[in-house]
Amino acid sequence: MATKPEAKNLPCIFNSIVSKYPESQLAQCEIKEKQRWRHALAETAINKITILAKYFPELNSLLDSLESYSLCEKHYNQVVAKDSFINQLKKANNLIFLDPKENERKRIKLNNDTCDFGIQVSLPDPEYEKQINELGQLNMQLLSENKILEKELILLNSKYESQINELKHFNN
Ligand SMILES: [Zn+2]
Repeated sequence: MATKPEAKNLPCIFNSIVSKYPESQLAQCEIKEKQRWRHALAETAINKITILAKYFPELNSLLDSLESYSLCEKHYNQVVAKDSFINQLKKANNLIFLDPKENERKRIKLNNDTCDFGIQVSLPDPEYEKQINELGQLNMQLLSENKILEKELILLNSKYESQINELKHFNN
């Protein structure tokens, strides 16, 4: 089995995330001469990182490769050691993540919206549209063929009538 690399030789998992969320309270990585590095692949850290992945979606793709990341002291303190940062995030996202009633209300609204959407708009499937066009063309073709047949029928009828007339004339 390969030896586990030392945590201090691995990049801090939050290093790439921080720059993407300048608005968040996420701290900048701290690079001190003497600091503790912790592996991201440790139970407490995994739990916290999993929670944070809700707020920082980039973390989701890193969850499978936690063994390649560590936590700098700053982020360990901010994210793993204390709950205040996560609690802050939860509070800020209260409407979405915490209040079950609000969630329920939103879900109902969403369902209703979906229903409305389904009733109001049925988006034309291009394949379906193509078939309708083809059927329309076929219909036109049949209609014009029908007209030709009608004309032929009229012609035949008139021929027949004139023949009858001739016969009547002959008989008389
Ligand atoms: Zn860091």
